Parts: sequence; structure tokens; C-alpha cells
Amino acid sequence: MGYVTRIVIIGGGPGGYEAALVAAQLGAEVTIVDRDGLGGAAVLTDCVPSKTLIATAEVMTTFDSSYEELGIVVADGANLANERFIGVDLGKVNRRVKRLAVAQSHDITQSVTRAGVTVVRGSGRLEGGQALDGSRAVIVETADGEQQELRADVVLLATGTHPRELPDAEPDGERILTWTQVYNLEELPEELIVVGSGVTGAEFAGAYQALGSKVTLVSSRDRVLPGEDPDAATVLEDVFRRRGMNVMGRSRAEAARRVGDKVEVTLADGRVITGSHCLMAVGSIPNSEGLGLAVAGVRTSDSGHIKVDRVSRTSAPGVYAAGDVTGVLPLASVAAMQGRIAMYHALGDAVAPLNLKTVSSNVFTDPEIATVGYSAADVECGKMDAVCVKLPLRSNARAKMQGIRDGFVKLYCRPGTGIVVGGVVVAPKASELIHPISLAVDLNLTVEQIANAFTVYPSVSGSIAEAARQLHVRKRAAEES
Ligand SMILES: Cc1cc2nc3c(=O)[nH]c(=O)nc-3n(C[C@H](O)[C@H](O)[C@H](O)COP(=O)(O)OP(=O)(O)OC[C@H]3O[C@@H](n4cnc5c(N)ncnc54)[C@H](O)[C@@H]3O)c2cc1C
Repeated sequence: MGYVTRIVIIGGGPGGYEAALVAAQLGAEVTIVDRDGLGGAAVLTDCVPSKTLIATAEVMTTFDSSYEELGIVVADGANLANERFIGVDLGKVNRRVKRLAVAQSHDITQSVTRAGVTVVRGSGRLEGGQALDGSRAVIVETADGEQQELRADVVLLATGTHPRELPDAEPDGERILTWTQVYNLEELPEELIVVGSGVTGAEFAGAYQALGSKVTLVSSRDRVLPGEDPDAATVLEDVFRRRGMNVMGRSRAEAARRVGDKVEVTLADGRVITGSHCLMAVGSIPNSEGLGLAVAGVRTSDSGHIKVDRVSRTSAPGVYAAGDVTGVLPLASVAAMQGRIAMYHALGDAVAPLNLKTVSSNVFTDPEIATVGYSAADVECGKMDAVCVKLPLRSNARAKMQGIRDGFVKLYCRPGTGIVVGGVVVAPKASELIHPISLAVDLNLTVEQIANAFTVYPSVSGSIAEAARQLHVRKRAAEES
């Protein structure tokens, strides 16, 4: 029998556990060290819980925003216009959220164990540099204070991040909350102040508003979702305001403090806003401290993220890193891909370097905002020469039938070849609708190929084909002029 590569993975989120599965399939001896539970923050506190909460919010919004138009009457025909007649039991919702998260973590542990991976519960760190035989030591401190040394030919660091806190807005877990703490609430916040209008802030603001809270969204920027397609962000901000959210642009929060059963948030310009609860969504800090990186020769950026190349190598031989701790693109799907790539590379398998231009992502608001490929900003700054068509969903037959008022499909293609290089879908379930555009971007399909493929009539995805047809015409007109 040949030599079996020993792999130790620190961190059991998507970056770690997906890598473990691949490495085990490729015949390595794999140990995964995690201190909180497999699935990581993605499964236990971030991605899975938030999307489970949003599943309830989504049903509420769909009902609230379209029941009248669709002719739905409840409560013996009483005139209930402008009155909310559905409510939410947040304690029950949150118990479901936590139950699903734990079950998902359990499922992952089972499949990883079944694949032959050893799971060690504890905190791991690198100890020293590389030994003469090329191996490294990983020290694990278990919950009961015991220490264990593991030897590894390859180490993968996939330790993720934790919520950033403002010095004058320390979360108390009751009224000033991080996104990991909201699932302990039994009662719906009456007036929720959400600080931060990035993806996390926008998702929670939209969700709690749908659940029935009065929401104020404090944004330090001109508009919500500063990193997203500007047209999409405008649609969302308009929808938020129309539904009664107080969206405060160019308002930087500096402090939050409890005053009795209220929370006061102080803005940089001195204004003070009051709510019953405050959710801080002001970014994340990489879990890179205490990992023994400097001694091991692993370089980090000023923000503390571990520097990696496109095959997940760090600056130290035999040490790879994946996921949010690298700061490459904080998505579960990207973490998983970086982890797999690391293992393919370390174990000498065929590997394609990470290509961020094919990553599709979604903001789980209502409407959802799904994006893939080159963006409006890339086209504007000249990074990509592309022709664009944007089709509002108002003209889509299925959208009309479903009472969908807001949203659009946007496609970008290269002017000469017609190859699709990017797209945005703003619609309910945009996360499901982006896939054909994602395939097109990945496979270099042309607008003609998209336009020629059948779509169901009536369907919202029909707008993707229609946008492709219009782009074909626009591209030809551009060629002829
Ligand atoms: C509110 C919210 C919603 C999100 N929703 C989505 C979404 O819908 N879709 C999406 O793609 N992404 C989403 N994300 C991002 C996604 O959660 C992250 O990209 C993903 O969790 C990154 O995975 P990871 O493997 O890098 O780390 P994590 O999931 O953070 O896992 C890291 C693990 O390492 C453990 N760990 C840390 N240090 C050590 C140590 N020294 N020893 C042992 N274990 C350690 C941690 O306890 C944790 O279990 C969301 C993020 C947030 C905050």
C-alpha cells in the first residue's frame, strides 16, 4: 500500500466539511477539527437559520402583498383591507429555525463520518513550522481542557468569521443583538432598528418587517445594498419604503445603548433613534487570531484575512485556506469550492483555479436579487465591454397573474460574439431563476442560444429568453451602425 496523505482541517463549515468529503474520496486520511459543530456558522448561526426565518417571512409577504389583488377574503368576508390579520409566533418560528440547524449539522456529521473522516470536537491551531519530513503539528484543545497533537502533511484552515461589534454598541443578547442571537427571541420586536444595509442587514430588515415589526434600517451609504446592482438596490429600497420601512440613508450609527426596555441608537450627526431592539449587521471579523499563523509562515492581510491564491494555497507550504477567513467572497458556495479546490490541488488531482466570474449569488429579500458574472460596475468602469438589456417584470404575463409588481431581468452580452457575460434577476424566487443565466455564463453560451431554447408559457423565466431576443436585436443594430 502506498503512502496515505494525512490531512487536518481546522473549521467544519462549508469550506472545511466539503473539503473533508473530497479528500476522503481521494483516499486521504482526514481529520476535521471544529469547536462548534459541523456545518459551521453557515449551518448553525448564519446562512441556514436566516433562510429558515426568511421562509416564514416570505409566506407572510406573499400573502400580505397580493391577497387583495388575488381576491382572497378571510374571516367570513369581513372587510379587512389595511388590517393585518395574519401574525407570527416568533418563539415557534425560532424553535423551528434552531431545530433545522441542529438537524442539518447532524446530517453533515453523519455523512462526513460515513466517508471515513475523523471528527474531533475542539479548538485547533498550528504549532510551529514545517518539520524536516514536511509535516506540521496541529494542537487541539478539547472542551474539557485536554490537549491533543495531530500530525498533518496538509493543513486546511477554514475557520470562518464572527460578527463585528462596534465598541459603543456591545450586544447584550436581549435587545442589542448580533445576527447569531436573534433566534433566542420569544416575542417579535415591536420596533427593530437594523444597523447596516449590506446583504445581512437588508435580509433581516425585510424579514422582520414582513413578520410584523416596525423596522428602521440605518445605512451609512447613499442607498441600501451598496455592493449590488444599483437598479436592483433601487427596486428593493422603493419596496421597503412602500411597505412602511424607515430607510435612513447616509446615517452612520456610532453607539447603541439600553434605556429600560428600549434601545437608543446614536448617529454620527448626533441624532438619536429609539426602538425596542437593535440588530447590528456591520460586517464580520476573520477567525484568524490564535491559529499560530505567523510562526507557521502564513501571511494575512491588514484586515486579518488569510491570503490565498486561486488554488487556495497560503504563503506556507502545505497549508491551504478556504472560506470566509480568506475574505475572497463570503458565500457558502465559494467556501465549499475553495475547500474542494485545495484538496484537489494538495492531492494532485485535476484542478481548475477558482473563477469568481461564474459565481451566482442571491440576496434573500422580497423581491430576491440574484446575480451572476460581470456587473453594471464592471461595464461602467470599462473592465468588460458589454451590451445590456433590462426587462421589467411588469410586462411578463405570469408575473401579472401572480400579482408581481416589482422586479426585472437584466442580461449582459459581448457586443461582437453575443456571449452572455452576466445577468441580474430581481423577482420572487430569483435564486431559482438565475440558474439558466449562470449556465450561460459558465458555458459561454450566446444570447441566440438562450433565445432559441424553449421556456414554459406563461413563466417568469420567459423574460430571460425575451431579454436574450432583445439583446440579439440590439447587438445586430450595434454591428450595423
Ligand atoms: C446572516 C448571514 C446569512 C448568510 N446567508 C448566506 C446565504 O444565504 N448563502 C451563502 O452562500 N452564504 C451566506 N452567508 C455566508 C456564509 O454563511 C459563509 O460564507 C460561510 O459560512 C463560510 O463558510 P466557512 O466554511 O468559511 O466558515 P463558517 O461557516 O464560519 O465555519 C467555520 C467553522 O470553524 C470553526 N472554528 C473557528 N475557529 C476554529 C478553531 N480555531 N478550531 C476549530 N474550529 C474553529 C467555527 O466554530 C465554525 O464552526 C451568510 C452569512 C451571514 C452572516
